[in-house]
Amino acid sequence: MNQEHHAAPHREIAELAALDRERSRFAQISAILGWDQETYMPEAAVTERAEQLALVESLAHERAVNPKIGMLLAACEGRGDLAPQERAYLRVLRREYDRETKLPAEFVTEFAKAVSVSQAAWAKARQADDFPAFEPYLSHMVDLNRRKAAYLAPGAKAYDALLDLFEPGSTESSIAGVFAVLRKDLVALLAKIRARAQVDDAFLHARVPESAQRAMSELMMDLLGYDRRRGRLDATAHPFTTTLGPDDVRITTRYIEDYFPSSVFSTIHETGHALYELGIAPGREYRGTRLAEAASMAVHESQSRMLENMIGRSEAFWKPSWDRIAALAAPALDGVDLPRFVRAVNRVQPSLIRVEADEVTYALHVILRFEIESELISGRMRAKDMPAAWNEKMRDLLGVEVPDNRSGCLQDIHWSMGAFGYFPSYALGNLYAAQFLDAMRRDIPDLDARIASGSLAELRSWLGEKVHKPGATFLPAELVQDVTGSPLDASHFTRYLGEKYGRIYGF
Ligand code: ZN
Repeated sequence: MNQEHHAAPHREIAELAALDRERSRFAQISAILGWDQETYMPEAAVTERAEQLALVESLAHERAVNPKIGMLLAACEGRGDLAPQERAYLRVLRREYDRETKLPAEFVTEFAKAVSVSQAAWAKARQADDFPAFEPYLSHMVDLNRRKAAYLAPGAKAYDALLDLFEPGSTESSIAGVFAVLRKDLVALLAKIRARAQVDDAFLHARVPESAQRAMSELMMDLLGYDRRRGRLDATAHPFTTTLGPDDVRITTRYIEDYFPSSVFSTIHETGHALYELGIAPGREYRGTRLAEAASMAVHESQSRMLENMIGRSEAFWKPSWDRIAALAAPALDGVDLPRFVRAVNRVQPSLIRVEADEVTYALHVILRFEIESELISGRMRAKDMPAAWNEKMRDLLGVEVPDNRSGCLQDIHWSMGAFGYFPSYALGNLYAAQFLDAMRRDIPDLDARIASGSLAELRSWLGEKVHKPGATFLPAELVQDVTGSPLDASHFTRYLGEKYGRIYGF
């Protein structure tokens, strides 16, 4: 046995962090190339860029599966003299290392090839509204995902293994329990809203030039405390946030001239993601490692959705900048007062398309997909029976008739890409956000008054300290318990919605 095996565990952990950091630098280079591609790259560069990205990603992958990581992990795990943060780091790194190394190389290649043909088949089938043409590819994706699950977690429930990829530690039964409550409450709330007169939002469709919308977005970024020395805003077809390094987190938005709320709320949403990424700081020695990444996709969404919907669509939030917003939008908001604006941007309208859904109906779209994909993966539902199940659930949950599969079960790209277990994160984000916000209100009882006076510093430092700083130190369930004092509970979200929409729709 050589000297190294007797070294203090923190030395081996520092070695692991150094290897891990090298991987993340390649991932950051890849993010720079990807950001440039979406924003400023001339279109003729697309083929060369794909080659550049493929090379950098393969270098990142090589670093991630370095056998030295496996050896160091094995040497550290099970030691009794580890600090809690060291244990947390080993847990995160083990999870990621296993994910990268447990799938045989032939399977990864087979999966990637199948995805590219399946995605092309989906795009064609959606265009032609031809589900039967996509059905064999869907079956194949289900089958490949079952095999993937068996490699990742032999003996476990397949859908649980897939969920774990997106929301570590979650299971089908834990999510089903939470969603059952949510489903019942949301269907009841939607019925109440539908019984009331609809809110008028026609004035939101007046023309507001891109330059004015851009100024509004910048106003929102400043109000929310997004440090422009560590990020920037650009325009893309689909808004996103990307991390180019611990001090370089950029966002994008999309300008629609006859619907300015789209750019403004996208900016607020992405700013929520950016503040999270910029706030992750589990300690100097973990900078640039897996521990300095988000706890999960749903925790990430909790940060964007809290700012966009729970804070950003409230009267208190708009109050300090209302005059400036109205001036920038002029004449679109002439004669519109703040309460009317707030009602309009919170309009609830059940529709066919998930990505266009409002705050109340959104989670119902997600529950529908969770119920279907868990049945597909478990084999309780066959691919050919999916459209009928989809349409029936749309009727039960949203009261909407699906006219064709293009605007029904063929609308999302996820299953064609082989991504099963991803959808629940979208709804869990709302639930985490509402529960965090209730805890924040306990600690800062005058939160709304502070926001209404233009001060979001208290909100930001509360989120920064409790949610952002630890990064991936805790599993999402541990984080919720730690921050709020209780396990995940959908009633925080449904109570928030009931109170808010009761005010807006008058019940
Ligand atoms: Zn988001």
